[in-house]
Amino acid sequence: MENLFLSCANGAQINKLIEDSGLNVYPFSVNSKGNSVYFMINCTQEDMLVVYGEDCANFDGEGAEADGIEYKICPLNHHNALELKKAFPFTAPIRVLGKKRSFGLGDRLGIATPGHIRLFKEYDAYPVFSQQSIRELNLTQRTYEDVLDVATFYTFRDGYKDGYGADGDHLKTEADIEYALSLGFTMITLDSSEHIKVGVEALTAEELDKRVTLTDEYRQRYLNKKFDLEGSIVEFDEDTLKRTVLIYQDAIAYTTHIYNKYLASGKYDCDFEISIDETATPTTPEQHFFVANELTLSGVSFQTVAPRFCGEFQKGVDYIGDIAQFERELIVHAAIARHFGYKLSIHSGSDKFATFKLIGKYTGGRFHVKTAGTNWLEAMRAVAQINPGLYREVHKYALSRFDDARKFYHVTTDLTKIPDVDTLEDDKLPWLFTLNDARQLIHITYGYILTDKDENGNYVFRDKLYTLWRENEAVYADMLYNHIGKHLSLLYSGFEE
Ligand code: ZN
Repeated sequence: MENLFLSCANGAQINKLIEDSGLNVYPFSVNSKGNSVYFMINCTQEDMLVVYGEDCANFDGEGAEADGIEYKICPLNHHNALELKKAFPFTAPIRVLGKKRSFGLGDRLGIATPGHIRLFKEYDAYPVFSQQSIRELNLTQRTYEDVLDVATFYTFRDGYKDGYGADGDHLKTEADIEYALSLGFTMITLDSSEHIKVGVEALTAEELDKRVTLTDEYRQRYLNKKFDLEGSIVEFDEDTLKRTVLIYQDAIAYTTHIYNKYLASGKYDCDFEISIDETATPTTPEQHFFVANELTLSGVSFQTVAPRFCGEFQKGVDYIGDIAQFERELIVHAAIARHFGYKLSIHSGSDKFATFKLIGKYTGGRFHVKTAGTNWLEAMRAVAQINPGLYREVHKYALSRFDDARKFYHVTTDLTKIPDVDTLEDDKLPWLFTLNDARQLIHITYGYILTDKDENGNYVFRDKLYTLWRENEAVYADMLYNHIGKHLSLLYSGFEE
């Protein structure tokens, strides 16, 4: 710790105090503002913030005085996060969706950011450290306050000053949008899937006519026209146009309403992502064009659109489907995005290694990719490596909750393909995370693993798992650095700047 504080006011004095106290200071966390010095310390069980000097009056914590300088040792709570953001704006999220490349890192556990920070110090893509859906909040029993605060404290602790985003992911209702905006999320992902009509492809022409009438506006705008998107032609016949209108008109109206109500005025410094990916059928290029065109004509400004791509983007496993078809359609989707001036957003991007080089290539390095589940799976792979006994217990518990969990997911998991954990040697357990079926088992049961309680009201696993992760932070950070790093290096291999 020598000389760490010498450049600050009272530096020599503070340096000596810290040396005498034996505090375990995070070296990247040392910052000064005016006459005050801030840093974070590792207290084994938890991290704490220390504020020396007059600013300590703004923080909650245990106050003391040493050699005439006031200081406080402060818990990492919401109030202190807000104060820290005021003192050091780099710890607050910014808008990143309009940047060339951005990458979402859903950290369900609130412990993944150190590994992500190490990685993103090496890449020019902007990370979205805070990214959660309301569903994920419920399943992990966390709050949006907590999701934001975690990123604030880790960016401060590990010295990440290049800017990161916060994504209120897959929000559906006005109440949820207001919740996220009021806390300072810098990106809203609007999920209008409940307004997207399903089963329209199967309607007969007669049934279709009963449900939709084409207005003159639609006819003039789309029929007998060829839209040239960098050489790919998008055109509509009357039947296709009717079906497209029927499927998307309510979703477009809802999206426009949300934009006008919350974002148009600029009151919130927030980007807007349109997600139409949570549907049963892939978004055709015609549909993608129609949605983007209608929203643009309605005056909606947005930074990204997430279409549903062909094939399957199942949770936590590689792409399933015809990669040549994916490539052909990606070319058109990317051209549509460029035509309107937004970026493509790739959802369920965890582990889609077969697609990344193509995405990097056809977007010309302008993309948003979201991951979430894979960060959780790496945390569980760490458990398998560090504590095989605990992992076996969790694994068997997941099997017992699988039928409940699968109701909420579209997965093709086959439990019979997962070896019995009692027959595997300890050092074979991490290998389970190379098997799609085992990955999906652990992926979709995370809510039960993290929040179920026993008959005495104690968590079955939550506390044990968090203790393990706390004690082995470096192991998990290494795993994320490598695993998310593989995502990024493949994406970057597709383009050159
Ligand atoms: Zn999505």
